[in-house]
Amino acid sequence: MSPELELAKQLIGAAGRVTVFTGAGISTESGIPDFRGPNGVWTRNPAAEKTATLQNYLADPDVRRLAWQNRLRSPAWDAQPNRGHRAIYELERQGRLNAVVTQNIDGLHQRAGHQPQHVIEVHGTMHWSRCWTCDDRRPMQETLQRVRAGEADPHCLACAARGETGVLKSDTVSFGQSLVPEVIDAAMQAAEECDVLLAAGSSLSVFPAANLVPRARASGAGVVIVNGEPTGMDRFADVVLLGPLGELLPELIGSTSP
Ligand code: NAD
Repeated sequence: MSPELELAKQLIGAAGRVTVFTGAGISTESGIPDFRGPNGVWTRNPAAEKTATLQNYLADPDVRRLAWQNRLRSPAWDAQPNRGHRAIYELERQGRLNAVVTQNIDGLHQRAGHQPQHVIEVHGTMHWSRCWTCDDRRPMQETLQRVRAGEADPHCLACAARGETGVLKSDTVSFGQSLVPEVIDAAMQAAEECDVLLAAGSSLSVFPAANLVPRARASGAGVVIVNGEPTGMDRFADVVLLGPLGELLPELIGSTSP
């Protein structure tokens, strides 16, 4: 075992309250690509970043039509939690999980078994749609059914009933969109009140979420970063482990499930 892995195991093994902070890299082994990793959606096609920007989405029906087709075809609908998600769930089973703060929108932590109140989704969820005008929220599958039935850019049904038009979007935080203040506050609190922050599968380059790492550090928590490549926050870590999460997280947390 490498000295880094040994140190990380010691830190996590001794912690009574662990906050886990995950990014898209935790879900790549479930078949959902990340954005900025070596095989990331934007690494391969930098123009794709445009569809993730709120202003483009609201202003341009073509961007919305493309976004609805991408939602229909998302690999996330059939994805299953992988060994990394299950190792993190092991912390909850052991009673040592303070919270999972995730930038992911795929819901795979909940599918791995976590109580919903233990998962803080700072960038929202793809499992619901929301109206940009009236906030009406519905299960995403209901809205996707309308797309399958031929509505290329479905609009809000609640607004339509009042004779108005409302743009629908997935209930996620796009670039250029504000985070929900109570949600990011809860995430920062989870970083401040833990013994160890374990950041896994994030380039730690999306703000303000990435600030969880220096927040935890400033509060006296230990910081362990696990990722496939160096991150922008490595200088705040006690230990950085580089490698595949599906191998490293079970070793680190001591999960025995396959
Ligand atoms: P990112 O794409 O910026 O970074 C992902 C990191 O994970 C990369 O550094 C990559 O090297 C690493 N990685 C990928 N697979 C790995 C593996 N198997 N083992 C170890 N490391 C691995 O992702 P981010 O930091 O989460 O930020 C991107 C934004 O995109 C987030 O805000 C998130 O909301 C969104 N996003 C979410 C999903 C999802 O829900 N699954 C997928 C793509 C993007």
